[in-house]
Amino acid sequence: AGLGLLAWGFVRLRTQQLNAQALALEQEVANRTADYERVNAELKSANEELKLAAVTDALTGLRNRRFMQEQLGTLLSGINRRLRDPEQASKVCALILIDIDHFKQVNDTFGHERGDQVLVETARALESAARGEDYLLRWGGEEFVLVIPEIEPQYLRLVHERIHGAMAPVGEQCELGRAITLSMGIITLPWLKEKVDQREWEHSLEIADLGLYAVKAKGRNGSAMITVTTALQTHEDWSP
Ligand code: GH3
Ligand code: MG
Ligand code: MG
Repeated sequence: AGLGLLAWGFVRLRTQQLNAQALALEQEVANRTADYERVNAELKSANEELKLAAVTDALTGLRNRRFMQEQLGTLLSGINRRLRDPEQASKVCALILIDIDHFKQVNDTFGHERGDQVLVETARALESAARGEDYLLRWGGEEFVLVIPEIEPQYLRLVHERIHGAMAPVGEQCELGRAITLSMGIITLPWLKEKVDQREWEHSLEIADLGLYAVKAKGRNGSAMITVTTALQTHEDWSP
């Protein structure tokens, strides 16, 4: 019986040891899991920061051209969805291409840093004229794009006035001794009551650019509101 008791004592001791080991192991696993999850969360947030940085313009904080590329599918399907809804069919998407007038002069007269300040203040002015659902982008250099996903076309004139008006204080803010003005090309999608695609979007950008240059040629500080006609639809058919 004494031997049995001794054996029982050993078993009990060994069991306690094993239990303690198991507990320590469990603790270790829990610690490692927590570490892993923390690192994972850190990676995830770093990744999101990187993603955001890739679609953000460092100088102005506006979104960039790449952001628009990523959003284009969503934008176009929104336009196409409205085409099928009679109550929404009068609304359009507006694409506004914006270029600062005589911007090179600012750089040449006051230096690049002042030029950068003008870009930042212009971005702020445009932001004040835009709405939350709009895409406001630094398109490159001293060009910006404002995309209004959904607007009744008769309000576009107000948008045009609001944007030019918002620029009024920029020249003074940047101590230039002259005003900073903008030239804009404005076009709306859909062109026809038909489904839009990426091709129509790209052509719209090109046409808006033509409008913009027409404003430049006329003396700047204005907007060209472009209406796409159905001329191509009414071409002569020369098929045999
Ligand atoms: P226009 O009225 O015809 O548009 O003339 P402009 O001088 O505004 O246009 P132009 O294309 O001749 O010059 C644009 C200048 O913008 C040239 C380029 O050096 C300058 N630029 C582009 N990006 C930046 C930037 O990030 N910072 C600064 N300071 N200048 C920039
Ligand atoms: Mg330009
Ligand atoms: Mg310019």
